Amino acid sequence: MSVFKPDLMVNSLRDINLKLHWEKGKRGIILDLDNTIVLWNVVELNTEAQSFLEEALALKYKIYLLTNASRKRTENIAQKHDLSYIAPAFKPRKNAFLRALKKMNLQKEEVLVVGDQIFTDIWGGNRVGCYTILVSPLSSREFIGTKILRLLEFFVKRKFI
Ligand SMILES: [Mg+2]
Repeated sequence: MSVFKPDLMVNSLRDINLKLHWEKGKRGIILDLDNTIVLWNVVELNTEAQSFLEEALALKYKIYLLTNASRKRTENIAQKHDLSYIAPAFKPRKNAFLRALKKMNLQKEEVLVVGDQIFTDIWGGNRVGCYTILVSPLSSREFIGTKILRLLEFFVKRKFI
């Protein structure tokens, strides 16, 4: 069941020590959108996400947005913040992750995958062999489908993590 297990679990993006990961050789971040850097159905970046991005860019990390949200929704946010993106990414399928690695010109060992969902972000990130970080979701205002996934995640976490 290790495919569902993040390498690191944090409450907030603030808890990710970007400098330390850089020192360990990480050079890129594959970042989830909804509930990781923005609230669902919102376009504005959450303030902690804003400072996370600023710090990451200052350290010269390459950043790639990977989201299962629609292209239309993602485009707005990505353009506003000058971020590359793949949407919809169909996570946890590997394809979009591999494309992002290639676009960033980085190896899987050099990339952090950061997101709020085990069955998309963490599973997908683990499948391609990146370092996966599970962040607590920004909000619980979500699709019903996501709520069902959360319930499953709850049991998986209790049993395997
Ligand atoms: Mg998400």
